[in-house]
Amino acid sequence: MDNSVIELKQTFLQANFHEIQFAAIFGGMILLFLIEGFVPRKQSGDNQASRWLSNIGLAIFNHFFIIFYSASVFGLLTYFKPDSPLISHFKLSDVFSFVIIVLVMEQLTYWIHRMFHKVDFLWRIHAVHHTDTEIDVTTSHRHHTLEPMINALIVTPIIFALGAPFIILAMYNFMHTAVSLFSHSNIVLPKKLDAVLRWFIVTPDFHRMHHSSEKQFTNSNYSAIFPWWDHLFGTASKKTYEELPQMEIGLEVMRKAEDNRLDKLFTTPFIYKPVTNKD
Ligand SMILES: [Zn+2]
Repeated sequence: MDNSVIELKQTFLQANFHEIQFAAIFGGMILLFLIEGFVPRKQSGDNQASRWLSNIGLAIFNHFFIIFYSASVFGLLTYFKPDSPLISHFKLSDVFSFVIIVLVMEQLTYWIHRMFHKVDFLWRIHAVHHTDTEIDVTTSHRHHTLEPMINALIVTPIIFALGAPFIILAMYNFMHTAVSLFSHSNIVLPKKLDAVLRWFIVTPDFHRMHHSSEKQFTNSNYSAIFPWWDHLFGTASKKTYEELPQMEIGLEVMRKAEDNRLDKLFTTPFIYKPVTNKD
């Protein structure tokens, strides 16, 4: 492809990034939501209305921060065009740069996720995600706003150190969002398909283990896009295909419908003492 075409695509993507990001997140969510209605992995419980309300509320609220954050990062990347960095220094091809950036970002995401489970004050923030007593596509947006903020503080300097081109970061971003929506979805995949797919990508059944209310499983299957990191670092766990729909989801605490109220979720890290991840 000639350079002017790549540049044209990059300019279009950059100019319309927020609209495309919004369409990808909410469009993907609606599509998976419809599929969940036809082929659910598990029938939903009584708390559905309150869960959906709070999960979508958090999605909208966090979206404002994410827009502000990505606009700032992409703006700074466009303005400063950092060229010190590893990628441009070695003059790698676009495809190779893409592979390296995706792998670095994925590794980073895996270790940050483990840190959110390990460090007490970070766990209190991340626990909001785990308080969902069911798992479906809306769960992927159930995050306390402090979580993407802390993530941004860690990830941003690394993005700049890598000097990753905008288009590669944008592609990684869409990939991450798409797999996150898919891995949280309450969709049943045929047993054989899941068995093959879970070697390449985090499937809904693979990620479901991470939302178990049993601590040993909550502290497993941390990977976001590729399940390889859990296999590599010994944190992969598994239940049989038949056992999974029976497994209790959520935490041992905050299981009532009223615990889904947005004010409760926002204050959980500060006041809700029983939220602990210690044995
Ligand atoms: Zn987690």
